[in-house]
Amino acid sequence: MQRFRRFRGHTIPIPLLSWKHRRFCPTCIREEPFHRSIWDLSIVSACPRHNCLLNFQCDACGRSLEWRGDHLWECACGHAFTSAQVKPTAPAELLGTRFVFGLLDEPGFVDAASPSGSVPPFADLRVVESLGLLHTLTLERAIYERKSKIAGAIEPPHVVLTGALLACSEWPTQIPGFLGLKRPSKTRPLSRWLESLSDAKAGIRESILAAFDDAQTSAIQERGPLISLEEAARLLKTPERRLRHAESLFRALGQRAGSRGFLSPSLVQKLAAADERLLTSAEGAQLLGVSQQSFIAMADAGLLMNVKGKASGRGTMFALSEVKRLLDDVQSRVTVAPAEPGVRLIRIGASSSPALNGRKTVRVVQALLDQELLCAGIDPDANGLQRYLLDSREVTSFLRTKGLSQ
Ligand SMILES: [Zn+2]
Ligand SMILES: [Zn+2]
Repeated sequence: MQRFRRFRGHTIPIPLLSWKHRRFCPTCIREEPFHRSIWDLSIVSACPRHNCLLNFQCDACGRSLEWRGDHLWECACGHAFTSAQVKPTAPAELLGTRFVFGLLDEPGFVDAASPSGSVPPFADLRVVESLGLLHTLTLERAIYERKSKIAGAIEPPHVVLTGALLACSEWPTQIPGFLGLKRPSKTRPLSRWLESLSDAKAGIRESILAAFDDAQTSAIQERGPLISLEEAARLLKTPERRLRHAESLFRALGQRAGSRGFLSPSLVQKLAAADERLLTSAEGAQLLGVSQQSFIAMADAGLLMNVKGKASGRGTMFALSEVKRLLDDVQSRVTVAPAEPGVRLIRIGASSSPALNGRKTVRVVQALLDQELLCAGIDPDANGLQRYLLDSREVTSFLRTKGLSQ
């Protein structure tokens, strides 16, 4: 149940008022030492007559201002509030406060509310509802600022109030942006304010909720809807479980997979453009016709780039295009010099003497690329690098010069 107080001819919900602690404008009380009731509105934190902030506590002792005590304008510590420090503020920051003064027919400010007061949403709201809206927007904005840790300090209340008024100026399209786009949950001030509106004001409720939906939709259109791993796997022609384990891949692209396994389409597009297909080291090894150990050794030696561009680890993935590139490089650079009859021929990936695995494969492939080793023949039916036949004696002596003999 909302509780109310009579306030300057209006029935105002108690949360909109702040009586517990007194606040004042030092210049106002110097001019005339009485308390101005408008200072009791929670959203009023400045004096637009003197373009300064209200004082909430004693400059001398830091005590907050109570209503108790014999002297309203003298602190318990003896400090005279009429000589309190004035904290000036820019008039532009007080647009919201001036508007509130105008809403309550504060002398000298009636015009401040009239041009804006005659346009939506204020034209359709009673004074109390308008105050409630501004109060709600400042509370919501404060929640958003705290949550998002917007760069710099949290804005002072009178600046937030001006922001809230300006956000209302193109009602209601600016409200979602002002409050961080996401529709506030049921328990939050804005939802409560919307619920407090009578059914006659249902249009206002609908228009603001629609604005949040529109903002969400356009934010999604900008970012694109997230797509599931399943969908991404289909687009990338790679098994889903592989994407799930390919953490290095996401790190390589400077992005994280969504917490619930959703990816942004731009990430998937990047993956699809970078690699027409992603391979595990086992698959890459199979395509090259070498052992997985040799494949990883080749990747670590820089013959093959993995998608991370760094040392291979668990889950590291390789682009099919990169594996094909290596095969093409070897094919275009290898020099074939048929071996003499009777020479024993071996292949890359051989497991018998001289075994061509691991670091030896790396050396031999590099030597083929550098034309340091000649190819003794080509077996067009063999798989990947296994098609290159080598003279076993040449290979043995080459490996010996590299300190890699058995
Ligand atoms: Zn003042
Ligand atoms: Zn004091």
